[in-house]
Amino acid sequence: MSASPSIPRADLYAAADRFGTPLYVYDAAELDAALARVQAAFGGARVFYAMKANPNLALLARLRASGVGFECVSAGEIARAEHVGAGGEDILVNGPAKSREEYETGARLGAIFVVDREEEVGLLPPGSRALVRVNPALNVSTHDHLATGAAGSKFGVTPAQAPGVLRALREAGHHALGLHVHIGSAIRLVTDFGAAFARLAELRAHTGELEVLDVGGGWGLGADLPGIAREAREAASAFGAQLWVEPGRYLVARAGTLLTRVVGTKRTGRNFLLTDAGMTELLRPMLYGAVHPVTPLWDGGEAQTWDVAGPACESGDLLARDVALPEPNPGDLLAVGDAGAYGAAMSGSYLTRPRPAEALWEGGAWRLIRRRETPRDVWAAEMGAYTASTHDRQGP
Ligand SMILES: *Cc1c(COP(=O)(O)O)cnc(C)c1O
Repeated sequence: MSASPSIPRADLYAAADRFGTPLYVYDAAELDAALARVQAAFGGARVFYAMKANPNLALLARLRASGVGFECVSAGEIARAEHVGAGGEDILVNGPAKSREEYETGARLGAIFVVDREEEVGLLPPGSRALVRVNPALNVSTHDHLATGAAGSKFGVTPAQAPGVLRALREAGHHALGLHVHIGSAIRLVTDFGAAFARLAELRAHTGELEVLDVGGGWGLGADLPGIAREAREAASAFGAQLWVEPGRYLVARAGTLLTRVVGTKRTGRNFLLTDAGMTELLRPMLYGAVHPVTPLWDGGEAQTWDVAGPACESGDLLARDVALPEPNPGDLLAVGDAGAYGAAMSGSYLTRPRPAEALWEGGAWRLIRRRETPRDVWAAEMGAYTASTHDRQGP
């Protein structure tokens, strides 16, 4: 795993000087390469990018230009898809608890809905195109919070319910395209996917042929894509269906790197390397125990073992544990790799920390694709409710 794909160290320092840190950087060549790997493995399948992995407009526009559609799970995501020019054919509206606004904007655009429960048949706008999400109730090899296809998960209908929901959709005048399954995220074992897809294929006897089988995403970075694709094609052919896929992480994770400056060090029995990025910029280590590769962009002597800790007043605010790095100097840059998915997307303004800037490396040059927020951006929505003039009237 490389932490900063093919961007020269001097250019990473140049970006940090120009845009400040913490900074997300993306390598356009790696984004394109990931899409090419997906297209090679799943040749012929329709690709919908699950934009929750990284909704940056510049990245969406780039994927759009390659013919990729979007899987959206909120009204805001639908608005982003529309903003980069996606039409209804290219938008899947998904989610376990869709809002009225999501149905309405989806309908206005002519988007395709993924039905997550029986009751939704009566909520869809008239004449909707729809897939039915099935929960295959399987245990998969990923963190509990990343498993969406396990028994007891809130997603989808049961395999036993699925044929009835397809029928109900048709009876209500909707266009039932087929079935959908997404078993979770960061899954590496082909057998996990194979078991889920086979569980769906078993429904063929009750559903008849279908137009579409959407097998979701969830492919871990080290996953055997051709192996997953083989299982998916087999299931799709059981239904005589066209294959659709919804990768998120796989398309953007490798391309992204979080650049953070070393603030200093501290020794308390453990060695802490303190950085200017933490849980507010990259939540995954704290949320999922995710392990991201860290690469020192400084030259040093012998490596020591460090915990990389952020600035937040939370003891869980660690970017990495027990990593071997040479002694740094304040201001040195640390590259946190494989951070393009669920990194910037999950960044937050807790502690009134403005969200970080994002920059794209393309053709040997940097382009700022999201400016760094300011503290004023963070409290902008509070203005009017409390103004400086109110404060002035009431005194200190
Ligand atoms: C999150 C999600 C995806 C993408 O998951 P990745 O692990 O990022 O590939 C695809 N489909 C659905 C329904 C999702 O919720």
